Amino acid sequence: MKIFDTHAHLSDKRFDEDRDELISGLKDNGVELVCEVGCDLRDVSATLALTQKYPFVYGAVGMHPHTAQFMDNGMADGLREMLKGGRIVALGEIGLDYYYDLSPRDKQREVFDMQLSIAAEAGAPVILHIRDAIGDSLDVLRAHKAELVKNGGITHCYSGSAESAKDFLDLGLVLGFGGSLTFKNNRKGVETAAIVPLDRFVFETDCPYLAPVPHRGERNDPTLARFAIERFAQIRGLDPEAAAELGFENGRAVYRLCDK
Ligand SMILES: [Zn+2]
Repeated sequence: MKIFDTHAHLSDKRFDEDRDELISGLKDNGVELVCEVGCDLRDVSATLALTQKYPFVYGAVGMHPHTAQFMDNGMADGLREMLKGGRIVALGEIGLDYYYDLSPRDKQREVFDMQLSIAAEAGAPVILHIRDAIGDSLDVLRAHKAELVKNGGITHCYSGSAESAKDFLDLGLVLGFGGSLTFKNNRKGVETAAIVPLDRFVFETDCPYLAPVPHRGERNDPTLARFAIERFAQIRGLDPEAAAELGFENGRAVYRLCDK
């Protein structure tokens, strides 16, 4: 199986014990590309270092809604600079999270909107984190529709209804499917996977979070992406290898790795 894990957090401290061993073994497990996401702009040095060390690990940087309240102008300038380097291929993860509400909601919206403008200036795709905030997120996103349609992006770990998925697809975004697709009772996820166009989805792990069944609750890593791929293939009546290949090519297209 040929896998692109389009959303990983390999710089997380839960990989401190075996990070290099794990990443060095990824290709033997079919994981040929990874996008490592550094989502606290107060320090993304570990993410940048991984993208320098491993040619098949690209990076994304951005301020997560959880830490939106700490965003300042210096970090915004740093973000613009990092997007100019060839190893950072997207701005993210950014968005709104009204489930945890770790930053005030008005601050989350302001920082989300600001980062969408930075992505537009840079011509970069975005990675979206949206939780319990679909209506407000769509309002912010629609103000940037023209650039989003042009530059693209991923609605990471999409958890809304199949109906709302169409609103994100209309904005030029693709949908990310990960471990939660394997969870029992994830009816919305299954319905969304059933209707997404085959050129508009990617696979991701969000590791170390969201490990798939039968590893639920354990530390996730990119080699476990295959469980979501197999579930997606089952829902769509595809061969798992073919589903993986579609996700791989869709990921390369959204991050524009074809030009690299
Ligand atoms: Zn993430």
